[in-house]
Amino acid sequence: MSKDTLIVVGSVAFDSIETPRGNADEALGGSGTYFSYAASYFTRPRLVGVVGEDFPDEHRQLFAKRQIDTTGLTSEKGGKTFRWRGRYHSDMNNRDTLEVHLNVFGTFNPVLPPAFCDSTHVFLANGSPLIQAKVLDQIKKPQMVMADTMDLWISTMHNELLALLPRLDGLLLNESEALMLTKDHNLIRAGMAIRKLGPKFVIIKKGEHGSMLFTQDGVFLLPGYPTEEVIDPTGAGDSFAGGLMGQLCSDDSPPPGRLRRAMAYGTVVASFTVEGFGLDRLKKIERADIDKRLEHYKSMLDF
Ligand code: AMP
Repeated sequence: MSKDTLIVVGSVAFDSIETPRGNADEALGGSGTYFSYAASYFTRPRLVGVVGEDFPDEHRQLFAKRQIDTTGLTSEKGGKTFRWRGRYHSDMNNRDTLEVHLNVFGTFNPVLPPAFCDSTHVFLANGSPLIQAKVLDQIKKPQMVMADTMDLWISTMHNELLALLPRLDGLLLNESEALMLTKDHNLIRAGMAIRKLGPKFVIIKKGEHGSMLFTQDGVFLLPGYPTEEVIDPTGAGDSFAGGLMGQLCSDDSPPPGRLRRAMAYGTVVASFTVEGFGLDRLKKIERADIDKRLEHYKSMLDF
């Protein structure tokens, strides 16, 4: 097994979700949660985040069951956990954020446990680029750093985001965010332009339509896994990233094709996530289910 270690810094939340297929109230969610849960099928991720006093022990046990190291998940006395409420449109591709209560996440100042500072693989989940940079400052010798971002930071912390980009190996963002960041309307041009801002590679997520990778060698495309039952798309992006980085961190094979293979794993893990509310579906699968679906996915790409 690889000696590489994966750390994620992100939100741990209670999500209330409405989709055309039903509702969930205060389900365990957040970018750090989805990422680490997805990555746990490949490695033992280290999760750094903050929760309030209202965070039940049962959720910590769930992380422990998947061997997610929560030494860096601090609990703030008297505080409340981050809450997010969202509603999906009928096509499930778009959603509206109805409520955000940052609570303890609003003043989150991540200080990594000393034992985590030797992590080789780093995922800076969606958050302020200032906080993302602060996390990176604490890692001694990172080998692979990837970050996620969102429209909020592109518009409100543009310069801080631009300062972070050259420090990244990879930037992950969705279609509309890539166009927003580059003020372009063509995704190919946007992907290539973002690489020029600093990251060695860029991955653009296109929801059910898959993902695009931009490297110095050009463009690589993967479709989404064709899932018949989409119940709740929340966390698809974060579990795509978790599967991808978990696989990268545990892959000892030679570099050519590594990133592409990791994206395929990320795609498959995300396809399970959307088949249930919150973590419901992921809780029911084993690594063998991921490998089996990966084989099926591969056969659909073969011509
Ligand atoms: P995704 O569907 O992969 O884009 O991620 C959805 C997750 O992001 C949900 O579980 C939310 O709790 C979390 N989330 C929503 N807004 C924010 C925010 N501003 N910062 C961090 N996490 C957020």
